[in-house]
Amino acid sequence: MSRYKIAVLPGDGIGPEVVTEAVLLLEEIGKQYNHQFDFKYGKIGGVAVDEVGTPLPGETIELCKSSDAVLLGAVGGPKWDNEPPVRKPETGLLGIRKALQLYANLRPVTLFSSLIHSSPLKREVVLDTDILIVRELTGGIYFGTPRERRVGENGVEVVDTLFYTEKEMERIIRKGFELAQGRKKKLTSVDKANVLESSRLWREVANRIAVDYPDVELSHMLVDNAAMQLIRNPRQFDVIVTENMFGDILSDEASMLTGSLGMLPSASLGVSGPGLYEPIHGSAPDIAGKQVANPLATILSTALLLRHSLGLEEEANLVEQAVDKALEQGYRTQDIGSEWERVLCTSQMGEAVRSYLKATIKN
Ligand code: NAD
Repeated sequence: MSRYKIAVLPGDGIGPEVVTEAVLLLEEIGKQYNHQFDFKYGKIGGVAVDEVGTPLPGETIELCKSSDAVLLGAVGGPKWDNEPPVRKPETGLLGIRKALQLYANLRPVTLFSSLIHSSPLKREVVLDTDILIVRELTGGIYFGTPRERRVGENGVEVVDTLFYTEKEMERIIRKGFELAQGRKKKLTSVDKANVLESSRLWREVANRIAVDYPDVELSHMLVDNAAMQLIRNPRQFDVIVTENMFGDILSDEASMLTGSLGMLPSASLGVSGPGLYEPIHGSAPDIAGKQVANPLATILSTALLLRHSLGLEEEANLVEQAVDKALEQGYRTQDIGSEWERVLCTSQMGEAVRSYLKATIKN
């Protein structure tokens, strides 16, 4: 029997509701495949502010560092909107990403065919969309210094700095190549090399290391064109790798291809140590505690956890198939449902996915 320690940080709002379903699913996987998952719970976000006065207690950091993977729900809510920065729930999230040195953010954008009507795009454009966006998470203009507002000769002026080292670029681009090797072997590197010096180096680095991955087809695309192509013809993409700010914007744009926030998982990976897995949606305070949240993004995050942190590919595939089958059978939560479909509450949707999983393994 293999044993894995999983840090579970449910967080705020709908976080605990959706994380419960993800944990039950992992327990089922454990039973069926003879793995033991030891779940250890930690506090993060607003709930941690309320209970211990900080959004990221030291014990939570220690717990995460000593685990094989971290499963997180969501943080935040109006209750903490007026807190000073050190007590803001989001500070806890940024803090744990930093503490675990998570530099690669992976966002798969997969359209489940039975949900095609949820997409704002035409069926023939989005059908079979299956993209993995790999975003650099620790550098670029969000972190560079100087970053300031000051008064110059012509009045107020501001400066933000886009700073990257060649090593940081190489690390994330290599991750893009490696991930493409496990998929359709197409890597699109997105930059703004016609204008930015940082992008020119980015492109050089991508071309230089491409020789180490002869089985992957590398292409370059300017970020403005990439924004357009994601809407015009999303099927052309397999893996996209890009720097922090471009990735932030493109991944939100791409998430809308599937039409539902409640369906999209994410993974953040470091050099070594545990990865962090969470749905891309927030804490949805408007529906918290009502058992109507869609748990599928968090359940799909466990598939990424099984694949990327534990190397359990078969189990990961099975989780994704189970979600697909539950949707094919017409099961829906309120955010993706329509009047002629069977709308379930959060726990019923979790159960629907688990029952498909049990049935498949038995056969
Ligand atoms: P949100 O993602 O929480 O909600 C946006 C809308 O989508 C809401 O109408 C919500 O009900 C719906 N929604 C989200 N997830 C859903 C799900 N699983 N099932 C069904 N419907 C779902 O974004 P927001 O309202 O802008 O932010 C709410 C709080 O969450 C804020 O405090 C924000 O800072 C925080 N937030 C946290 C994270 C995170 O923890 N990673 C990410 C984004 C926002």
